[in-house]
Amino acid sequence: MARKNPNIVITGTPGVGKTTHAELLARNTGFKHISINQIVKDEGFHEDKDEELGSWIVDEDKLLDYLEATGLDSEGGVILDWHACDLFPERWIDLVVVLRCDTEVLYDRLEKRGYKGKKLEENMDSEIMQVLLEEARENYKEEIVVELDSSGKEEDLEGNVGRIEQWVEQWRKDNVEEKDGQ
Ligand code: ADP
Repeated sequence: MARKNPNIVITGTPGVGKTTHAELLARNTGFKHISINQIVKDEGFHEDKDEELGSWIVDEDKLLDYLEATGLDSEGGVILDWHACDLFPERWIDLVVVLRCDTEVLYDRLEKRGYKGKKLEENMDSEIMQVLLEEARENYKEEIVVELDSSGKEEDLEGNVGRIEQWVEQWRKDNVEEKDGQ
């Protein structure tokens, strides 16, 4: 069965604004926001903690089974929010939004969050080396990967979310209305 709504990945280095964007987009569209970090924690989909970085090592099979059970492949309308995107099968995903942030702004946000030492450094390196953008481009078709700035200039949050909403409208026209009319 064809999906009625697209599935959207919002990715980027920690602190760029994924959750903030995903929550507003979910509110405006009625889509379901799935914070992968939250699910991993709540459902216990992790093996061990990387002690040095303080991050969970995710049990990917369990996570994928859980996501499949949400109906994202049949119904759509899901926003996946995570600092990685290579795990999600291409057939599930219609748009990949990679949020980017000025390094000074990001540094402040991460410091405020209590990141320090190696964890802070690695995340800064990841943003500077645009690791998530490369990961998105390697895993998905170029035309579905969009890079948006989320440094907090000129109310970029509303602007970015507005752009994604317009894209959703267009997706519906191209994929649902057209097919219904055939
Ligand atoms: P992530 O989910 O990527 O870790 P968050 O959404 O938690 O990032 O955002 C981190 C912090 O940065 C929050 O305090 C949030 O309010 C702020 N922030 C994120 N995006 C913007 C933006 N575009 N403009 C202003 N502040 C932002």
